Amino acid sequence: MPYPEKIDALGITNYDNWKTPSRFQYVPQEFRDYDVDIEIEACAICGSDVHVVKSNWGRPYVPVAVGHEIIGRVVKVGPESKKKFQVGDRVGVGAQCDCDNTCSACIDGFQNNCIAQVGTYFGKNPKTGFNTIGGNASHIRVNSEFVFKIPDSLETKYAAPMLCGGITGFAPLLNNNVGKGMKVGVVGIGGIGHMTVLFAKALGAEVTAISRSRAKEQDAKKLGADHYCVSSDESSLKQSNRTLDLIVNTTSSLSESDISTIMSLLKPRGKLCVISAPPISETLKLKVFPLLMMGYSIEFSAIGSPSQIQFMLDFAAKHQIKPWIETYDINEKSLGDAWQKVDNGDVKFRAVMVGYDKYFGREARM
Ligand SMILES: [Zn+2]
Ligand SMILES: [Zn+2]
Repeated sequence: MPYPEKIDALGITNYDNWKTPSRFQYVPQEFRDYDVDIEIEACAICGSDVHVVKSNWGRPYVPVAVGHEIIGRVVKVGPESKKKFQVGDRVGVGAQCDCDNTCSACIDGFQNNCIAQVGTYFGKNPKTGFNTIGGNASHIRVNSEFVFKIPDSLETKYAAPMLCGGITGFAPLLNNNVGKGMKVGVVGIGGIGHMTVLFAKALGAEVTAISRSRAKEQDAKKLGADHYCVSSDESSLKQSNRTLDLIVNTTSSLSESDISTIMSLLKPRGKLCVISAPPISETLKLKVFPLLMMGYSIEFSAIGSPSQIQFMLDFAAKHQIKPWIETYDINEKSLGDAWQKVDNGDVKFRAVMVGYDKYFGREARM
């Protein structure tokens, strides 16, 4: 039984076989007046996808498709969504698909910090208990508050990785009013970090790329970074010592020594923003005294608010921001291979799965 009764998906039906995803169908949750249904065209691979398929965040349920950097076309619009969307609109969905709209974060417009937020996968609808499945699928049904218009001049393959990875690095720049005259450090030049460099440059900041070795130096320069700091090299650290207003840390794991080293690059009263999700058991240890005397702060930031996501997409179109991507036609083998490549750090810098029409057999029906 195809859509709209059931949605075809590709993902994990058995965690022990995560390298070979398999196809399954699921019954979507009941269509609400403020929902839209989207026919999926592409979905990029986020680090979180790999955490989930590898059981790094537990095994709460199967099946799960993962994928939360979704681009597609609207195929059904609820009566309360009609002002915002029409059938045929090209749209995106990121890591969040619902919120309560009543907590203090929602009222302040930061639905991404909602106490009852629902993830696009590994999320549970608090009212119905529906377990969300994710974007490696023929369709997705979502609260239209978490659906975004993709500007015409922004290609699908470049827009997809922005929906989670892009906004995760961009929101700290917006939250800290990054612009001309500000000096921003980006730790980790990978899936998220490379987009953070692109966005910080487009906002007018002077950017220092920070990495453990010289391996990413040429890429960082090509991305537009003004400086490159090797965090394992004393003389390189000395050159950037106390120069930065804000550092966005995009690496997924941080030790006490990493934090001290990286924060020594901040000017007095500077701020470190930590954005990427570590293994769930990770804790953070800090040597307080140096942070105290410099008046430093540490901020944590998860994805971005709906208004920030729409702003990012429009900003990216205006500034012609193009993430570095590798595209793969989706099928059982290519998705499993792409997860492993991401896991091994072999993707430069984001993998985007395409060809959903063909794989899910919609071409024949159109
Ligand atoms: Zn993500
Ligand atoms: Zn809320």
